[in-house]
Amino acid sequence: MEHRVFNFAAGPSMLPLSALERAGREIVNYQGSGMSVMEMSHRSKAFDTIFQSTKEKLRRALNVPEDYEILFLQGGASTQFSAIPLNLLGENGRADYALTGNFSTVACKEAAKYGTVRVAASSADKNHTYIPPQSALELDPAASYFYYCANNTIYGTEWQYVPETGPVPLVCDMSSDILSRPVDVSRYGLIFAGAQKNMAPAGLTVVILKKTLAGRHLPITPLMLTYETLIAKDSMYNTPPCWCIYMLGLVLDWLEEQGGVAGMEAVKRKKALILYDTIENSRLFSCPVEPSSRSDMNVVFRSESEELDKKFAAAATEAGFTNLKGHRSVGGLRASIYNAMPMEGVERLCDFLRQFEKGV
Ligand SMILES: *Cc1c(COP(=O)(O)O)cnc(C)c1O
Repeated sequence: MEHRVFNFAAGPSMLPLSALERAGREIVNYQGSGMSVMEMSHRSKAFDTIFQSTKEKLRRALNVPEDYEILFLQGGASTQFSAIPLNLLGENGRADYALTGNFSTVACKEAAKYGTVRVAASSADKNHTYIPPQSALELDPAASYFYYCANNTIYGTEWQYVPETGPVPLVCDMSSDILSRPVDVSRYGLIFAGAQKNMAPAGLTVVILKKTLAGRHLPITPLMLTYETLIAKDSMYNTPPCWCIYMLGLVLDWLEEQGGVAGMEAVKRKKALILYDTIENSRLFSCPVEPSSRSDMNVVFRSESEELDKKFAAAATEAGFTNLKGHRSVGGLRASIYNAMPMEGVERLCDFLRQFEKGV
């Protein structure tokens, strides 16, 4: 316990200590079953109970309406970059994409293999340091869906509004901010997220979709990417990521104790505010992101030089604040402060930042 660090990694990232400890207690003998969850048949009664209760907990946490299905899949968020167009492009084969960073750009390129994809908005002109406002969205009223990435993990920006697209369904990559705030799921056609940022260990992908959107997949859609089949089989066409689903259940128990997503929202705001304030008030560091587009989950910042950034990250690691290096594609520094990062970790990082500055 004493040796745990404050881990600011972008993903896989920190998990709530209570969830890890409970998993540890149950690891060799899950609730008298005589075996680990890792050793259980996914068709067993014990696992079915875990599966269904985790699904229910997630439905409760995000207030997911009954006409939406929750899928627990493998392949990471990136596999959904392909599954989404294959399933949702439909007959006219048209989709709108907002490009606000690396992941939405990759998703757009992938969709272009299967249909006609339009760039409805882009922040590439200013190196993705802002989120385009509603007025800048050039919408195709005949698009099968509008795609955006709610939180740009690498660039540290976050949509502070839900795009208004009329009858065109919203498809959203929430990999790095799901469960950090309440979401009106009924405004979306599909929400997806890789679990390793804010939900569970890597290996689980959550898809929440309006059931009526399934069944329009292109004929070439691989079996394992077909939402209609995955819904019909309740995510168990093949073996689901059992251990990760179990871990998600434990994380959701913790989340519920903390007041659910509303509780998370209150805390994440405070954590982000104190960190951005500290950076703004520092002599060495600055944040390149437009203030109104800043992410509460991934705080990117940098000094005047790469060398000093490196020095800072190394000194921070030494002091127990790990993984502060920015993404390899953009450099600089980044503190990912997801749900499981305690307020204390952020406060102490701020202290460390001020201390470091005094020594330079
Ligand atoms: C990490 C991340 C991804 C990629 O997730 P994988 O599960 O590794 O495929 C996609 N989108 C966003 C916003 C991410 O943060």
